[in-house]
Amino acid sequence: MCKAFSCRMCGVCCQGEGGIVVSSRDVQRLVDHLEISPEAFEAQYIVRRSGKRRLSSGENGACVFYVEGRGCGVHPGRPDVCRAWPYFKGNLLDKQSFFMARDDCPGLEPDAEFDRFVEEGVEYLRREGLWGNGDSDAPNALFSDLDEMLDRIRGRKSRG
Ligand code: SF4
Ligand code: SF4
Repeated sequence: MCKAFSCRMCGVCCQGEGGIVVSSRDVQRLVDHLEISPEAFEAQYIVRRSGKRRLSSGENGACVFYVEGRGCGVHPGRPDVCRAWPYFKGNLLDKQSFFMARDDCPGLEPDAEFDRFVEEGVEYLRREGLWGNGDSDAPNALFSDLDEMLDRIRGRKSRG
């Protein structure tokens, strides 16, 4: 069976301002990757909005780390939400959100089925360990842990 999602590396999800919420763990990973101090990182790359720490944007309106023609300039150190997309909590729990993601992300097959997408997402998030892990500043797009994900997806199915 054809995969529901396969990234085309188009960079569409790196456009826009302030959409990438980063946790303390993300910041530490990026600081290590860039080999700069946390203070310099905060000053150069972070904006705070609605109580959340977010990556700032560049002059082109895309994420500050997006490099035209090359893609993510910090790929090995990128934040968890960038690793998790399009398998965000909302997209895995709500069919309408999945349809909107399917419209936006060229990596999602235009005729991808919701159940197939959820199956792939569960497998991927489990394999990569992409959870909030109870961190108070974890992005809302991530499940807290494996149990929360499985419980909520089972609950969705049992409600039909
Ligand atoms: S960190 Fe990288 S993958 Fe994430 S939005 Fe920025 S450029 Fe895109
Ligand atoms: S928009 Fe979709 S296909 Fe394009 S880079 Fe982002 S995840 Fe990959």
